[in-house]
Amino acid sequence: MYDVAIIGGGPGGYASALYAHNFGLSVVLVEKDEIGGTCLLRGCIPAKSWLQSAEVFDTVRRAAEFGVDTSEPTMNWPVALARKQQVVDGLVRGLGGLLKARNVEIVNGYGHLADGGVEVTGAEEGSRLLEARNVIIATGSVPRSIPGYAIDGQRIVSSDHALDWAAQPRRVAVIGGGVIGCEFVSLLSDVGSEVYVFEALDQILPGTDPDAVKVLERAFKKKGVKIRTGTMVGAAQITDEGVSVPFGDEAVTVDVVLVAVGRAPVTDDLGLEAAGIGLDRGYITADLATMQTLRPGVYAVGDVVAGTPQLAHAGFAEGIAAITHIATGEAAPVDYRAIPLVVYTHPEIASVGMTEAQATVAGRKVKVTSHGLRGVGRAQIQGHVDGTVKIVAEEDGPILGATVVAQGAGEMIHELMYAVGWEALPQEAARFIHAHPTVSEAIGESLLAAAGTSLH
Ligand code: NAD
Repeated sequence: MYDVAIIGGGPGGYASALYAHNFGLSVVLVEKDEIGGTCLLRGCIPAKSWLQSAEVFDTVRRAAEFGVDTSEPTMNWPVALARKQQVVDGLVRGLGGLLKARNVEIVNGYGHLADGGVEVTGAEEGSRLLEARNVIIATGSVPRSIPGYAIDGQRIVSSDHALDWAAQPRRVAVIGGGVIGCEFVSLLSDVGSEVYVFEALDQILPGTDPDAVKVLERAFKKKGVKIRTGTMVGAAQITDEGVSVPFGDEAVTVDVVLVAVGRAPVTDDLGLEAAGIGLDRGYITADLATMQTLRPGVYAVGDVVAGTPQLAHAGFAEGIAAITHIATGEAAPVDYRAIPLVVYTHPEIASVGMTEAQATVAGRKVKVTSHGLRGVGRAQIQGHVDGTVKIVAEEDGPILGATVVAQGAGEMIHELMYAVGWEALPQEAARFIHAHPTVSEAIGESLLAAAGTSLH
């Protein structure tokens, strides 16, 4: 009898398994594929490896500006693909070693919730019951599609396929201008593909601060990306020239269509209904204080959970909350107010807490300050001056949220994560001095302005 059986070896599942050692819990982890989940195998890690290759390409392309003469760069796609795979494989191996060191037993097969634990099917040794006092469901999510765009892996693909393209596609239509869509638009346009992006809502990256989105849109347009917002596409038609994507009275023909319209939770065939576990449009309903489902002893973490962000780091945090509750009976809820989101485009957009619009909808009276990067020494030195820091604070109250657009914004956002998490007042945060010259000085300047004073 195990203390915990976990179904799914992605960030939610493996973080739960790793964290359990703090309490001496015995753990079995059931995974039908390789350990690593979407993040490691088909998401965050491979995508950022591709984006890194694109960034190097762009840096070399601009080298002469910095007084470094090179020849015009060309993309060696197979090498970038191999490097991506090397990074993924190294991390998967490292994770396997860590799980082993923590005495986590890994069972290969398909897990279903059963009386007394988890039933595993599809394993070499046939079906078996793993008896467990507690079960954590961490089965993750898969790409969704839309009518008229059946994913065939060749002409119409999801991010799963796009991360393994054997050659650079020349003409690409991206359906969905969310996080995945924009990261691929950025990468493909950096390396010279012709890119179209179709977004149903009235801005790409819906929900993101509109001023931040404008900076990204400008960068995309400079690279020739055709952005169509507020646009629904008609059904794709495969032709001799490629794939035709109709919209309004027009159509574009591309080599490949990437569908990035969101991800659906994997909750079919897990035995949830029989166990009396409620689903909300396919997502599992859990008590967000403990991650426990309606059935005591059964928990859910990661992308399958209703009403929480589909982010690897949210999955890690939910795994910690679930294990803490299993081990101690105490609720240790995730602080969803202060989870950073990083969009790894060039430039990056990183945000935490509320945007101005969200704060206003929540009835908060806010003061918004921002500082552009153009006058920031380090940004000029680096040649990346397109960006801003925007801070949203309650009038005479704490910092509620922030958005940073900059190269490296994903590394800069965390000081604002603490400010939001600790409900710092602008004048408290503004007391501290940023190193000079750094891009983060723009955060200091914005905090000073939020505190009612300014320097530069
Ligand atoms: P998303 O929800 O971020 O974006 C989907 C986009 O598609 C939305 O903008 C939506 O309006 C649009 N859309 C939906 N139907 C459409 C249609 N018929 N035509 C045109 N547009 C349409 O989803 P995603 O980009 O697929 O990402 C899935 C999840 O993975 C998200 O929760 C995201 O946060 C997460 N993710 C995070 C990162 C990161 O943190 N860097 C990277 C990748 C994915």
